[in-house]
This record gives sequence, structure tokens and C-alpha cells, in this order.
Amino acid sequence: MSQDAVQLQAELLKAMAHPFRLRLIRELGREEECVCHLSALLQRPQPYVSHQLAALRDAGLVSDRREGQRIYYRVSDPRALRILSVVDEMAGAPDTVLAAPRAAVAGCPCPKCGDAPRIGHPIRRQAAVW
Ligand SMILES: [Zn+2]
Repeated sequence: MSQDAVQLQAELLKAMAHPFRLRLIRELGREEECVCHLSALLQRPQPYVSHQLAALRDAGLVSDRREGQRIYYRVSDPRALRILSVVDEMAGAPDTVLAAPRAAVAGCPCPKCGDAPRIGHPIRRQAAVW
């Protein structure tokens, strides 16, 4: 394997090797979400969420699209979800990638939560804070 290939592997793993980015990949693996939703769901300021999303985008793991005032992100390489699933197994956690359906977040200003019944933060989300 060439030095360039090894370097690329390290860069990909480095981009994923951050607790918050792992949470982002997990959430975006289900469906695309806007920054405001991720901010409400994961309870972090939007600039912080945007910064972490930019790191994932630069690594080619997520992509974005603009719709009006909002920017939506999604996992652009589904192999990232396979890595996450393997890491779940290695860490002794059940495979939670895509395990839970999307739930509306109380107080989230995104269009999807606005359309859906508001059920607040599910217990799974509270327990999943790493
Ligand atoms: Zn939302």
C-alpha cells in the first residue's frame, strides 16, 4: 500500500475520531438534517455544529445542500456508517446505527419538527450523550 493511501486512511479516521462528529454521522445516517435541527437535538450552539460538520464535509464524509435559508447535511459515503457499526461492536455497544426512528425535537425550529408531533427528547437521546 502506498504512503499516500495510508495517509488518506489516517485522515479519514482522524475526521471521524471525535465524539461529537460520531454523533453527527449517526444522526445524518438516517436522513438529511439541517444545522438548526442538529443544534437543537444535540444541544450545542449552531456555530459549533457547523464547525464539526465542515470537518466531516472536508473529509468527504458528509455533503450539504442549501434550501432557502437552511443548509441540509447528509452522509455522503454510507461506508462511514459501516465503520460506525464496527466501532459500536468493538466498544461493546449494541449496533445503534439507524436503530431508532427519527423523532421531533421539542423547540426545534426546523421544518420537519414543525410538521411532526412534538414528543420532546426521547430517553434514548438523553442516554446517548457521550
Ligand atoms: Zn428539527
